[in-house]
Amino acid sequence: MTTTLDFTTFKNVIDNELTTTATTHHGINPATSQPNPEVPVSTQADLNRAVDGARKAFKSWSKTSFAERRATLNAYADAIDANAEVFSKTLTMEQGKSLAQSQAELGMASSWIRGLSAIEIKDTILEETEDRKIIQRHVPMGVAGAIIPWNFPVLLAIGKVASALYTGNAVIVKPSPFTPYTALKLAELGTQFFPPGLFQCLSGDDRLGPMITEHPGIDKISFTGSCATGKRVMADCAKTLKRVTLELGGNDPAIICEDVDIDAVIPQVGILSYLCSSQICMMIKRLYVHEKIYDEFLEKLVAFVKAFKVGDGTEPDVFIGPVQNKMQFEKAKELFSTIKADNLKTALGGSIEDSAGYFIHPTIIDNPPESSRVVQEEPFAPILPVLKWSDDDDVISKANALETGLGSSVWCADFDRATRIADQLQSGSVWVNNHFAVAPGIPFGGHKQSGLGVEWGLSGLLSYCNSQTQWLKRTVSKV
Ligand code: NAD
Repeated sequence: MTTTLDFTTFKNVIDNELTTTATTHHGINPATSQPNPEVPVSTQADLNRAVDGARKAFKSWSKTSFAERRATLNAYADAIDANAEVFSKTLTMEQGKSLAQSQAELGMASSWIRGLSAIEIKDTILEETEDRKIIQRHVPMGVAGAIIPWNFPVLLAIGKVASALYTGNAVIVKPSPFTPYTALKLAELGTQFFPPGLFQCLSGDDRLGPMITEHPGIDKISFTGSCATGKRVMADCAKTLKRVTLELGGNDPAIICEDVDIDAVIPQVGILSYLCSSQICMMIKRLYVHEKIYDEFLEKLVAFVKAFKVGDGTEPDVFIGPVQNKMQFEKAKELFSTIKADNLKTALGGSIEDSAGYFIHPTIIDNPPESSRVVQEEPFAPILPVLKWSDDDDVISKANALETGLGSSVWCADFDRATRIADQLQSGSVWVNNHFAVAPGIPFGGHKQSGLGVEWGLSGLLSYCNSQTQWLKRTVSKV
Protein backbone atom coordinates (compact mmCIF):
# COMPACT_ATOMS: atom_id res chain seq x y z
CA MET A 1 0.00 0.00 0.00
CA THR A 2 1.41 3.41 -0.97
CA THR A 3 0.98 6.34 1.35
CA THR A 4 2.63 8.96 -0.87
CA LEU A 5 0.38 11.93 -1.55
CA ASP A 6 0.79 14.83 -3.94
CA PHE A 7 0.47 18.07 -1.95
CA THR A 8 0.31 20.40 -4.97
CA THR A 9 -3.27 19.74 -6.11
CA PHE A 10 -6.27 19.57 -3.79
CA LYS A 11 -9.53 17.83 -4.64
CA ASN A 12 -12.75 16.73 -2.99
CA VAL A 13 -12.92 13.12 -1.84
CA ILE A 14 -16.28 11.62 -2.80
CA ASP A 15 -16.77 7.85 -2.78
CA ASN A 16 -12.96 7.46 -2.70
CA GLU A 17 -12.67 9.42 -5.97
CA LEU A 18 -10.79 12.71 -6.23
CA THR A 19 -13.06 15.23 -7.90
CA THR A 20 -13.07 18.92 -8.57
CA THR A 21 -15.76 21.47 -9.44
CA ALA A 22 -16.48 23.92 -12.27
CA THR A 23 -15.85 26.81 -9.89
CA THR A 24 -12.85 26.86 -7.58
CA HIS A 25 -11.45 29.27 -4.99
CA HIS A 26 -8.36 29.41 -2.83
CA GLY A 27 -7.13 30.23 0.65
CA ILE A 28 -4.44 32.79 1.40
CA ASN A 29 -1.12 32.10 3.11
CA PRO A 30 -1.51 34.47 6.08
CA ALA A 31 2.25 34.99 6.45
CA THR A 32 2.67 36.28 2.89
CA SER A 33 -0.85 37.21 1.69
CA GLN A 34 -0.11 35.04 -1.36
CA PRO A 35 -2.79 32.71 -2.76
CA ASN A 36 -2.63 29.03 -1.84
CA PRO A 37 -3.65 26.40 -4.47
CA GLU A 38 -7.18 26.25 -5.90
CA VAL A 39 -9.74 24.03 -4.14
CA PRO A 40 -13.26 22.94 -5.15
CA VAL A 41 -16.40 24.94 -4.42
CA SER A 42 -18.81 22.06 -3.92
CA THR A 43 -22.39 22.22 -5.12
CA GLN A 44 -25.60 20.61 -3.88
CA ALA A 45 -25.04 17.84 -6.47
CA ASP A 46 -21.57 17.10 -5.02
CA LEU A 47 -23.05 16.90 -1.54
CA ASN A 48 -25.92 14.67 -2.69
CA ARG A 49 -23.44 12.28 -4.27
CA ALA A 50 -21.38 12.21 -1.07
CA VAL A 51 -24.47 11.56 1.06
CA ASP A 52 -25.54 8.69 -1.23
CA GLY A 53 -22.04 7.19 -0.95
CA ALA A 54 -22.02 7.64 2.81
CA ARG A 55 -25.39 5.95 3.27
CA LYS A 56 -24.18 2.95 1.25
CA ALA A 57 -20.91 2.75 3.18
CA PHE A 58 -22.77 2.98 6.49
CA LYS A 59 -24.73 -0.20 5.75
CA SER A 60 -21.69 -2.46 5.84
CA TRP A 61 -19.38 -0.43 8.13
CA SER A 62 -22.00 -0.32 10.90
CA LYS A 63 -21.93 -4.13 10.95
CA THR A 64 -18.16 -4.36 11.54
CA SER A 65 -16.84 -4.93 15.04
CA PHE A 66 -15.13 -2.31 17.22
CA ALA A 67 -11.93 -4.38 16.88
CA GLU A 68 -12.02 -4.20 13.07
CA ARG A 69 -12.69 -0.47 13.10
CA ARG A 70 -9.93 0.08 15.66
CA ALA A 71 -7.43 -1.83 13.51
CA THR A 72 -8.32 0.17 10.37
CA LEU A 73 -8.19 3.48 12.26
CA ASN A 74 -4.83 2.61 13.81
CA ALA A 75 -3.38 1.77 10.39
CA TYR A 76 -4.63 5.16 9.18
CA ALA A 77 -3.03 6.86 12.22
CA ASP A 78 0.31 5.22 11.30
CA ALA A 79 -0.01 6.67 7.78
CA ILE A 80 -0.63 10.15 9.22
CA ASP A 81 2.56 9.76 11.26
CA ALA A 82 4.46 8.65 8.15
CA ASN A 83 3.29 11.80 6.32
CA ALA A 84 3.46 14.15 9.33
CA GLU A 85 6.19 16.36 7.91
CA VAL A 86 4.38 17.31 4.71
CA PHE A 87 1.05 17.67 6.55
CA SER A 88 2.75 20.02 9.06
CA LYS A 89 4.18 22.21 6.31
CA THR A 90 0.77 22.38 4.63
CA LEU A 91 -0.86 23.27 7.95
CA THR A 92 1.58 26.16 8.46
CA MET A 93 0.98 27.27 4.86
CA GLU A 94 -2.79 27.40 5.30
CA GLN A 95 -3.16 28.34 8.97
CA GLY A 96 -0.06 30.39 9.78
CA LYS A 97 0.92 28.70 13.06
CA SER A 98 4.60 27.89 13.59
CA LEU A 99 5.95 24.68 12.15
CA ALA A 100 6.59 23.37 15.69
CA GLN A 101 2.94 24.00 16.60
CA SER A 102 1.81 22.34 13.35
CA GLN A 103 3.96 19.30 14.13
CA ALA A 104 2.44 19.15 17.60
CA GLU A 105 -1.08 19.26 16.10
CA LEU A 106 -0.24 16.40 13.72
CA GLY A 107 1.14 14.36 16.62
CA MET A 108 -2.05 14.99 18.58
CA ALA A 109 -4.18 13.92 15.59
CA SER A 110 -2.71 10.43 15.33
CA SER A 111 -2.68 9.96 19.09
CA TRP A 112 -6.35 11.06 19.22
CA ILE A 113 -7.24 8.36 16.69
CA ARG A 114 -5.49 5.73 18.78
CA GLY A 115 -6.82 7.10 22.06
CA LEU A 116 -10.44 7.40 20.94
CA SER A 117 -10.48 3.97 19.33
CA ALA A 118 -9.03 2.41 22.48
CA ILE A 119 -12.14 3.33 24.47
CA GLU A 120 -14.48 0.42 25.15
CA ILE A 121 -18.16 0.94 24.40
CA LYS A 122 -20.19 -1.76 26.07
CA ASP A 123 -23.84 -2.69 26.17
CA THR A 124 -25.33 -2.32 29.65
CA ILE A 125 -27.51 -5.07 31.05
CA LEU A 126 -30.16 -3.18 33.00
CA GLU A 127 -32.10 -6.22 34.17
CA GLU A 128 -31.65 -9.97 33.76
CA THR A 129 -34.02 -12.67 35.00
CA GLU A 130 -34.62 -16.21 33.75
CA ASP A 131 -37.23 -15.00 31.29
CA ARG A 132 -36.32 -11.38 30.59
CA LYS A 133 -33.27 -9.33 29.75
CA ILE A 134 -33.19 -5.56 29.26
CA ILE A 135 -30.14 -4.19 27.49
CA GLN A 136 -29.10 -0.64 26.65
CA ARG A 137 -27.06 -0.57 23.42
CA HIS A 138 -25.31 2.31 21.68
CA VAL A 139 -25.97 2.01 17.97
CA PRO A 140 -24.42 4.18 15.24
CA MET A 141 -26.59 6.98 13.88
CA GLY A 142 -25.76 6.85 10.17
CA VAL A 143 -23.99 9.75 8.48
CA ALA A 144 -22.24 12.44 10.48
CA GLY A 145 -21.42 15.90 9.13
CA ALA A 146 -18.25 17.38 10.65
CA ILE A 147 -17.98 21.17 10.31
CA ILE A 148 -14.54 22.53 11.18
CA PRO A 149 -13.13 26.00 11.98
CA TRP A 150 -9.81 27.43 10.76
CA ASN A 151 -7.78 27.46 13.98
CA PHE A 152 -7.09 23.72 14.52
CA PRO A 153 -8.06 22.24 11.15
CA VAL A 154 -6.27 18.90 11.58
CA LEU A 155 -7.00 17.92 15.18
CA LEU A 156 -10.60 19.12 15.18
CA ALA A 157 -11.36 17.26 11.93
CA ILE A 158 -9.63 14.08 13.08
CA GLY A 159 -11.36 14.09 16.49
CA LYS A 160 -14.73 14.03 14.73
CA VAL A 161 -13.67 11.57 12.01
CA ALA A 162 -12.22 9.05 14.48
CA SER A 163 -15.25 9.33 16.79
CA ALA A 164 -17.75 8.91 13.95
CA LEU A 165 -15.96 6.00 12.27
CA TYR A 166 -15.07 4.13 15.44
CA THR A 167 -18.70 4.18 16.54
CA GLY A 168 -19.78 2.75 13.16
CA ASN A 169 -20.91 5.85 11.28
CA ALA A 170 -19.87 7.35 7.94
CA VAL A 171 -18.56 10.93 8.00
CA ILE A 172 -18.49 13.92 5.65
CA VAL A 173 -16.00 16.63 6.62
CA LYS A 174 -16.46 20.28 5.70
CA PRO A 175 -13.34 22.31 6.45
CA SER A 176 -13.35 26.08 6.75
CA PRO A 177 -12.96 27.84 3.37
CA PHE A 178 -9.91 29.52 4.93
CA THR A 179 -8.14 26.21 5.70
CA PRO A 180 -9.33 23.39 3.42
CA TYR A 181 -5.93 21.95 2.48
CA THR A 182 -4.97 19.52 5.25
CA ALA A 183 -8.53 18.20 5.61
CA LEU A 184 -8.77 17.35 1.90
CA LYS A 185 -5.44 15.48 2.11
CA LEU A 186 -6.47 13.68 5.31
CA ALA A 187 -9.50 12.33 3.44
CA GLU A 188 -7.38 11.49 0.38
CA LEU A 189 -5.03 9.52 2.63
CA GLY A 190 -8.12 7.83 4.06
CA THR A 191 -9.00 6.36 0.63
CA GLN A 192 -6.12 3.93 1.16
CA PHE A 193 -7.74 2.55 4.31
CA PHE A 194 -11.50 3.08 4.31
CA PRO A 195 -14.18 1.76 1.91
CA PRO A 196 -15.72 4.22 -0.62
CA GLY A 197 -18.14 6.72 0.92
CA LEU A 198 -17.05 6.18 4.51
CA PHE A 199 -14.77 9.19 5.02
CA GLN A 200 -15.37 12.00 2.54
CA CYS A 201 -14.35 15.64 2.46
CA LEU A 202 -15.96 18.50 0.55
CA SER A 203 -14.46 21.94 0.23
CA GLY A 204 -16.82 24.82 -0.41
CA ASP A 205 -17.84 28.38 0.26
CA ASP A 206 -20.33 29.83 2.77
CA ARG A 207 -23.23 28.00 1.10
CA LEU A 208 -21.93 24.50 1.85
CA GLY A 209 -22.38 24.53 5.66
CA PRO A 210 -26.14 25.20 5.51
CA MET A 211 -26.52 22.60 2.72
CA ILE A 212 -25.00 20.03 5.10
CA THR A 213 -26.98 21.02 8.20
CA GLU A 214 -30.25 20.93 6.20
CA HIS A 215 -29.57 17.70 4.26
CA PRO A 216 -32.13 15.01 5.17
CA GLY A 217 -29.60 12.23 4.49
CA ILE A 218 -27.30 13.41 7.29
CA ASP A 219 -28.17 12.24 10.80
CA LYS A 220 -25.81 14.12 13.06
CA ILE A 221 -23.82 17.34 12.96
CA SER A 222 -20.72 17.91 15.00
CA PHE A 223 -19.90 21.59 14.69
CA THR A 224 -16.92 23.51 16.02
CA GLY A 225 -16.88 27.25 15.47
CA SER A 226 -18.24 30.54 16.73
CA CYS A 227 -21.27 30.96 19.03
CA ALA A 228 -23.11 32.97 16.35
CA THR A 229 -22.75 30.26 13.69
CA GLY A 230 -23.49 27.55 16.27
CA LYS A 231 -26.93 29.06 16.85
CA ARG A 232 -27.64 29.01 13.09
CA VAL A 233 -26.45 25.40 12.88
CA MET A 234 -28.76 24.35 15.71
CA ALA A 235 -31.74 26.11 14.10
CA ASP A 236 -31.03 24.41 10.76
CA CYS A 237 -30.58 21.00 12.39
CA ALA A 238 -33.97 21.38 14.06
CA LYS A 239 -35.65 21.19 10.63
CA THR A 240 -34.78 17.47 10.36
CA LEU A 241 -34.23 16.89 14.09
CA LYS A 242 -30.59 16.00 13.54
CA ARG A 243 -28.51 15.17 16.56
CA VAL A 244 -26.13 18.04 17.17
CA THR A 245 -22.96 18.68 19.13
CA LEU A 246 -21.74 22.27 19.33
CA GLU A 247 -18.22 23.25 20.40
CA LEU A 248 -18.29 27.04 20.41
CA GLY A 249 -16.35 30.10 21.49
CA GLY A 250 -15.02 30.88 24.94
CA ASN A 251 -13.48 33.68 26.97
CA ASP A 252 -11.55 31.65 29.53
CA PRO A 253 -10.58 33.25 32.84
CA ALA A 254 -7.46 32.22 34.76
CA ILE A 255 -7.36 33.16 38.45
CA ILE A 256 -3.90 33.62 39.96
CA CYS A 257 -3.80 33.54 43.77
CA GLU A 258 -1.26 35.48 45.84
CA ASP A 259 0.60 32.38 47.10
CA VAL A 260 1.81 31.02 43.72
CA ASP A 261 5.43 30.51 42.72
CA ILE A 262 5.39 33.40 40.23
CA ASP A 263 8.46 32.26 38.28
CA ALA A 264 6.96 28.81 37.74
CA VAL A 265 3.54 30.14 36.71
CA ILE A 266 4.66 32.89 34.28
CA PRO A 267 5.99 30.63 31.47
CA GLN A 268 2.87 28.45 31.62
CA VAL A 269 0.43 31.33 31.63
CA GLY A 270 2.43 33.21 29.00
CA ILE A 271 2.37 30.29 26.58
CA LEU A 272 -1.24 29.36 27.34
CA SER A 273 -2.38 32.89 26.53
CA TYR A 274 -0.60 33.22 23.18
CA LEU A 275 -0.35 29.74 21.63
CA CYS A 276 -1.51 29.85 17.97
CA SER A 277 -1.54 33.67 18.21
CA SER A 278 -4.29 33.28 20.84
CA GLN A 279 -6.63 31.74 18.24
CA ILE A 280 -7.61 28.74 20.35
CA CYS A 281 -11.02 28.46 21.94
CA MET A 282 -9.50 27.51 25.31
CA MET A 283 -6.62 29.97 25.58
CA ILE A 284 -6.46 32.16 28.68
CA LYS A 285 -8.33 35.29 27.60
CA ARG A 286 -8.90 37.04 30.95
CA LEU A 287 -6.06 36.86 33.46
CA TYR A 288 -7.09 37.73 37.03
CA VAL A 289 -4.02 38.33 39.23
CA HIS A 290 -4.27 38.89 43.00
CA GLU A 291 -3.49 42.48 43.95
CA LYS A 292 -0.74 41.43 46.39
CA ILE A 293 1.43 40.10 43.55
CA TYR A 294 -0.05 42.06 40.64
CA ASP A 295 2.86 44.44 39.93
CA GLU A 296 5.59 41.80 40.09
CA PHE A 297 3.51 39.31 38.09
CA LEU A 298 2.72 41.84 35.36
CA GLU A 299 6.34 42.94 35.06
CA LYS A 300 7.57 39.35 34.74
CA LEU A 301 4.77 38.41 32.32
CA VAL A 302 5.66 41.35 30.08
CA ALA A 303 9.34 40.30 30.08
CA PHE A 304 8.40 36.72 29.20
CA VAL A 305 5.90 37.58 26.44
CA LYS A 306 8.16 40.27 24.94
CA ALA A 307 10.67 37.51 24.09
CA PHE A 308 8.22 35.63 21.83
CA LYS A 309 9.47 35.72 18.24
CA VAL A 310 6.79 36.95 15.83
CA GLY A 311 7.03 35.96 12.16
CA ASP A 312 6.38 33.52 9.35
CA GLY A 313 5.72 30.13 10.95
CA THR A 314 8.30 28.48 8.69
CA GLU A 315 11.13 30.51 10.27
CA PRO A 316 13.00 28.83 13.13
CA ASP A 317 11.97 29.71 16.70
CA VAL A 318 8.86 31.67 15.70
CA PHE A 319 6.21 31.39 18.42
CA ILE A 320 3.64 33.89 17.18
CA GLY A 321 2.65 33.42 13.55
CA PRO A 322 0.19 35.66 11.70
CA VAL A 323 -3.50 35.59 12.57
CA GLN A 324 -5.21 33.27 10.15
CA ASN A 325 -7.17 35.52 7.79
CA LYS A 326 -7.91 39.06 6.74
CA MET A 327 -11.35 39.07 8.35
CA GLN A 328 -9.80 38.10 11.70
CA PHE A 329 -6.99 40.66 11.19
CA GLU A 330 -9.52 43.44 10.56
CA LYS A 331 -11.58 42.35 13.58
CA ALA A 332 -8.41 42.50 15.71
CA LYS A 333 -7.57 45.96 14.38
CA GLU A 334 -11.03 47.14 15.33
CA LEU A 335 -10.64 45.70 18.85
CA PHE A 336 -7.18 47.27 19.17
CA SER A 337 -8.75 50.65 18.31
CA THR A 338 -10.67 50.44 21.60
CA ILE A 339 -7.37 50.73 23.48
CA LYS A 340 -7.20 54.39 22.54
CA ALA A 341 -10.93 54.99 22.44
CA ASP A 342 -11.44 53.53 25.95
CA ASN A 343 -8.21 55.02 27.28
CA LEU A 344 -6.79 51.62 28.26
CA LYS A 345 -3.28 51.27 29.65
CA THR A 346 -0.96 48.91 27.78
CA ALA A 347 1.82 47.04 29.53
CA LEU A 348 3.09 45.66 26.21
CA GLY A 349 2.38 46.33 22.51
CA GLY A 350 -0.90 47.99 21.67
CA SER A 351 -0.68 48.72 17.96
CA ILE A 352 -0.79 46.74 14.72
CA GLU A 353 1.73 47.63 12.03
CA ASP A 354 1.15 47.04 8.32
CA SER A 355 3.17 44.16 6.88
CA ALA A 356 2.98 41.59 4.08
CA GLY A 357 1.18 39.12 6.37
CA TYR A 358 -1.41 39.38 9.12
CA PHE A 359 1.09 39.83 11.96
CA ILE A 360 0.14 41.16 15.39
CA HIS A 361 2.69 41.58 18.17
CA PRO A 362 1.51 40.32 21.56
CA THR A 363 -0.27 42.93 23.61
CA ILE A 364 -1.03 43.08 27.33
CA ILE A 365 -3.62 45.47 28.77
CA ASP A 366 -2.96 46.59 32.33
CA ASN A 367 -6.06 46.32 34.54
CA PRO A 368 -8.80 47.48 32.12
CA PRO A 369 -12.35 48.01 33.41
CA GLU A 370 -14.39 44.80 33.56
CA SER A 371 -16.84 46.39 31.10
CA SER A 372 -14.24 47.03 28.36
CA ARG A 373 -14.53 45.12 25.10
CA VAL A 374 -11.12 43.44 25.53
CA VAL A 375 -12.53 41.75 28.65
CA GLN A 376 -16.08 41.11 27.47
CA GLU A 377 -15.34 39.76 23.96
CA GLU A 378 -13.36 36.75 22.74
CA PRO A 379 -10.52 38.52 20.86
CA PHE A 380 -9.08 35.49 19.00
CA ALA A 381 -5.94 37.62 18.58
CA PRO A 382 -2.86 38.10 20.79
CA ILE A 383 -4.27 40.69 23.19
CA LEU A 384 -4.60 39.78 26.88
CA PRO A 385 -6.31 41.79 29.62
CA VAL A 386 -4.68 41.37 33.05
CA LEU A 387 -7.06 42.28 35.88
CA LYS A 388 -6.47 42.94 39.57
CA TRP A 389 -8.55 41.18 42.25
CA SER A 390 -8.58 40.86 46.04
CA ASP A 391 -11.56 38.77 47.17
CA ASP A 392 -12.23 35.10 46.28
CA ASP A 393 -16.02 35.46 45.96
CA ASP A 394 -15.68 38.60 43.85
CA VAL A 395 -13.21 37.06 41.40
CA ILE A 396 -15.36 33.94 41.09
CA SER A 397 -18.37 36.04 40.18
CA LYS A 398 -16.32 38.01 37.63
CA ALA A 399 -14.98 34.78 36.12
CA ASN A 400 -18.57 33.50 35.81
CA ALA A 401 -20.09 36.76 34.61
CA LEU A 402 -20.06 36.12 30.84
CA GLU A 403 -22.45 34.15 28.64
CA THR A 404 -19.64 31.79 27.66
CA GLY A 405 -18.28 28.97 29.84
CA LEU A 406 -15.73 26.90 27.96
CA GLY A 407 -12.71 26.62 30.27
CA SER A 408 -11.30 28.28 33.38
CA SER A 409 -8.35 27.79 35.69
CA VAL A 410 -7.16 28.50 39.21
CA TRP A 411 -3.48 28.79 40.05
CA CYS A 412 -2.84 28.48 43.77
CA ALA A 413 -0.34 26.80 46.15
CA ASP A 414 -3.13 26.03 48.63
CA PHE A 415 -4.78 23.06 46.92
CA ASP A 416 -7.90 23.11 49.14
CA ARG A 417 -8.56 26.76 48.39
CA ALA A 418 -7.88 26.13 44.70
CA THR A 419 -10.40 23.31 44.50
CA ARG A 420 -12.93 25.35 46.53
CA ILE A 421 -12.70 28.07 43.89
CA ALA A 422 -12.63 25.53 41.03
CA ASP A 423 -15.87 23.93 42.25
CA GLN A 424 -17.65 27.25 41.81
CA LEU A 425 -16.52 27.98 38.25
CA GLN A 426 -19.10 27.63 35.49
CA SER A 427 -17.28 26.06 32.56
CA GLY A 428 -16.98 22.72 30.79
CA SER A 429 -13.31 22.31 31.76
CA VAL A 430 -11.79 23.58 35.01
CA TRP A 431 -8.09 23.22 35.61
CA VAL A 432 -6.09 23.73 38.79
CA ASN A 433 -2.48 24.83 38.32
CA ASN A 434 -2.73 24.22 34.58
CA HIS A 435 -4.93 25.28 31.66
CA PHE A 436 -5.79 23.77 28.28
CA ALA A 437 -4.88 20.20 29.29
CA VAL A 438 -6.72 17.93 26.83
CA ALA A 439 -6.60 14.22 26.02
CA PRO A 440 -8.52 11.91 23.67
CA GLY A 441 -10.00 9.90 26.54
CA ILE A 442 -11.26 12.96 28.43
CA PRO A 443 -14.56 14.62 27.48
CA PHE A 444 -14.50 18.30 26.66
CA GLY A 445 -17.27 20.81 25.93
CA GLY A 446 -18.78 24.11 26.96
CA HIS A 447 -21.31 25.34 29.48
CA LYS A 448 -23.76 28.16 28.72
CA GLN A 449 -23.31 29.59 25.21
CA SER A 450 -19.96 27.82 24.71
CA GLY A 451 -21.70 24.76 23.37
CA LEU A 452 -23.94 21.77 23.65
CA GLY A 453 -22.78 18.27 24.52
CA VAL A 454 -19.18 17.07 24.62
CA GLU A 455 -16.63 15.55 22.30
CA TRP A 456 -13.85 13.03 23.06
CA GLY A 457 -13.82 10.47 25.85
CA LEU A 458 -16.60 7.88 26.21
CA SER A 459 -19.26 10.62 26.47
CA GLY A 460 -18.03 12.17 23.23
CA LEU A 461 -18.15 8.82 21.43
CA LEU A 462 -21.67 8.17 22.71
CA SER A 463 -22.78 11.44 21.11
CA TYR A 464 -22.31 9.67 17.74
CA CYS A 465 -24.64 6.86 18.86
CA ASN A 466 -28.35 6.49 19.46
CA SER A 467 -29.34 4.80 22.68
CA GLN A 468 -31.35 1.67 22.05
CA THR A 469 -33.10 -0.27 24.78
CA GLN A 470 -33.89 -3.88 23.97
CA TRP A 471 -36.55 -5.72 26.03
CA LEU A 472 -35.86 -9.39 25.37
CA LYS A 473 -38.33 -12.00 26.60
CA ARG A 474 -37.67 -15.68 25.97
CA THR A 475 -41.38 -16.59 26.07
CA VAL A 476 -44.68 -14.81 25.59
CA SER A 477 -46.47 -14.24 28.90
CA LYS A 478 -49.92 -15.71 29.22
CA VAL A 479 -52.64 -13.20 30.13
P1 NAD B 1 -17.17 30.04 12.20
O1 NAD B 1 -18.36 29.80 13.06
O2 NAD B 1 -17.13 31.26 11.38
O3 NAD B 1 -16.99 28.83 11.15
C1 NAD B 1 -16.88 27.49 11.56
C2 NAD B 1 -17.29 26.58 10.41
O4 NAD B 1 -18.68 26.74 10.15
C3 NAD B 1 -16.59 26.85 9.08
O5 NAD B 1 -16.32 25.62 8.44
C4 NAD B 1 -17.63 27.65 8.32
O6 NAD B 1 -17.48 27.58 6.92
C5 NAD B 1 -18.90 26.95 8.76
N1 NAD B 1 -20.13 27.73 8.63
C6 NAD B 1 -20.28 29.07 8.50
N2 NAD B 1 -21.59 29.39 8.44
C7 NAD B 1 -22.28 28.22 8.54
C8 NAD B 1 -23.67 27.90 8.57
N3 NAD B 1 -24.62 28.83 8.50
N4 NAD B 1 -24.02 26.60 8.70
C9 NAD B 1 -23.07 25.64 8.81
N5 NAD B 1 -21.75 25.89 8.79
C10 NAD B 1 -21.35 27.17 8.66
O7 NAD B 1 -15.93 29.90 13.16
P2 NAD B 1 -14.39 30.19 12.83
O8 NAD B 1 -14.23 31.68 12.70
O9 NAD B 1 -13.95 29.30 11.73
O10 NAD B 1 -13.67 29.68 14.18
C11 NAD B 1 -13.41 30.48 15.29
C12 NAD B 1 -14.42 30.24 16.40
O11 NAD B 1 -14.46 28.85 16.70
C13 NAD B 1 -14.02 30.92 17.72
O12 NAD B 1 -15.16 31.50 18.31
C14 NAD B 1 -13.52 29.78 18.59
O13 NAD B 1 -13.60 29.99 19.98
C15 NAD B 1 -14.39 28.66 18.12
N6 NAD B 1 -13.76 27.39 18.40
C16 NAD B 1 -14.33 26.59 19.36
C17 NAD B 1 -13.74 25.38 19.69
C18 NAD B 1 -14.34 24.48 20.70
O14 NAD B 1 -14.02 23.30 20.70
N7 NAD B 1 -15.21 24.94 21.60
C19 NAD B 1 -12.57 24.97 19.04
C20 NAD B 1 -12.02 25.81 18.08
C21 NAD B 1 -12.64 27.02 17.76
